[in-house]
Amino acid sequence: MRPREALRFAFVRPNNALFSAFYREAILSPTLFYDMNKKIRKSEAEWKAVLSPEQYRILREKGTERAFSGVLYDHKGDGTYVCAACGQPLFASLAKYDSGCGWPSFYQPEDGDAIETQEDLSGGRVRTEVLCSRCGSHLGHVFADGPNPTGLRYCINSAALDFADNASQTA
Ligand SMILES: [Zn+2]
Repeated sequence: MRPREALRFAFVRPNNALFSAFYREAILSPTLFYDMNKKIRKSEAEWKAVLSPEQYRILREKGTERAFSGVLYDHKGDGTYVCAACGQPLFASLAKYDSGCGWPSFYQPEDGDAIETQEDLSGGRVRTEVLCSRCGSHLGHVFADGPNPTGLRYCINSAALDFADNASQTA
């Protein structure tokens, strides 16, 4: 068999074990390849297994931690704040500022694609909810009372974040 024929044979032969597994996976999960690159979808049971009860309440049930209670509220350091659920980079430490509100506050996300926003009408107020674009977890809210240059305050639960230190990453 010539090499080109062998290649074609490998792709069309339905009982090729590797190809069958690949094909079955693609049929069972049409979004598999899209998900690997972008979205992370887990069942709520899976999230419960990997998050602490407090993280689960906030990230997956849109909860809010008590003001001034989070370990990252007053946290300083050179690095990146990432989603506690999926690890996506969300806010650079340079964009963190002391708003005095009791939650970690940022004036802009590291990358606009990293977060999504939607209207939140809960609690008899109109607010803008902030979610992680990769895993859909609730992070906090964004308000229009922030500092320059954006005038925005991303008010984010500490429990929704992990901190990746630049110093430890390069060490
Ligand atoms: Zn996430």
